[in-house]
Amino acid sequence: MTPKPDIRDLSLDELTRHMISAGEKPYRAVQVFEWIYQKGAWSFEAMRNLPGELRECLKKDFDLKPNTVVRKVVSEDKTTKFLLDLFDHEKVESVLIPTATRTTGCISTQAGCKFGCKFCASGLGGWKRNLTCAEILAQVLHVQEESLNHKRPLSNIVFMGTGEPLDNFDNLFKAIRTINSDKGIGIGARHITISTVGLVPKIKELAKQNLQIELAISLHGYDNESRNLLIPVNRKYPFDDLIAACREYFKATKRQITFEYILIKDVTCTEKAVQSLKKAFKGIICKMNLIPYNPVEEFGHKTPSGKEMTDFRDRLEECGIHATIRTPRGRDVGAACGQLRHASQLLAK
Ligand code: SAH
Repeated sequence: MTPKPDIRDLSLDELTRHMISAGEKPYRAVQVFEWIYQKGAWSFEAMRNLPGELRECLKKDFDLKPNTVVRKVVSEDKTTKFLLDLFDHEKVESVLIPTATRTTGCISTQAGCKFGCKFCASGLGGWKRNLTCAEILAQVLHVQEESLNHKRPLSNIVFMGTGEPLDNFDNLFKAIRTINSDKGIGIGARHITISTVGLVPKIKELAKQNLQIELAISLHGYDNESRNLLIPVNRKYPFDDLIAACREYFKATKRQITFEYILIKDVTCTEKAVQSLKKAFKGIICKMNLIPYNPVEEFGHKTPSGKEMTDFRDRLEECGIHATIRTPRGRDVGAACGQLRHASQLLAK
């Protein structure tokens, strides 16, 4: 028996076409969408205003997998990390981050990660597979449910969980369209951020998508050599090509890019780095998000002192690069940037 598709793998257009071909009224697709994405239905039975016969047909044609939360941990700062069990018992993590002004869901796009950056826990257990559109959406639904329990509606989504979003391009964009749709989750494109390790051809492809989403680039190195040491895929898509692709992206979309830059003591947080970044970023209007290194025991790096970090930020500002320091969230429960792990390592922790 071939497995049934999960209904969340369908766009609203696809579900509408399905309804029409099944002899149903097109508005039934909208009702189903609202049940799943707005009213928190995790089963077809729960969709009470649909005729019983239609619910039976949907059950026959589609799955609506719960992707059960098997572990939930809450940090001192109220950041909540979820561990979800997928159909093949792969597991992924998602994080809900409440702050004074927003409630952000941090979502994974792959089980494990191929890229093996030399400071990040996500690559340590290797790569298993891409997540489906439905699995990406299920994470958003879980964090949305939790945020509503706390009467804090989900306002932002960041694709900064495990895996490389642009390496799972089609499923990611299908999911984003449902997250963005007012019949779906209804989060504005400007409140959705994709973070990438710097896959140059995909950044070019992204520039052609007509979406107002935010793009963040994990730069982390200040020149080709330093980036080679930290991010192995820099050998394939070197520093200068990446910066050139970002310039092109800005020209095509007029959208400002955020650069993520990790602060590692004596490695990335130096005057040499300031000088090199000043040269590379000449004429680029951007934001630089400085991320204090979050400890991962397998790597020997150290986080700089508070003063070293603010001095570095001030030097960048003096050089015309607008920089802010990201406040680490959820460090005590391993939910901060770079601390999410692949399932093979998770349950041992
Ligand atoms: N693969 C994507 C999505 C991951 S987003 C990407 O590379 O952008 C997670 C962010 O946290 C990335 O910028 C990543 O480089 C950064 N990060 C990884 N490990 C970290 C660590 N130990 N401390 C701080 N930031 C880290």
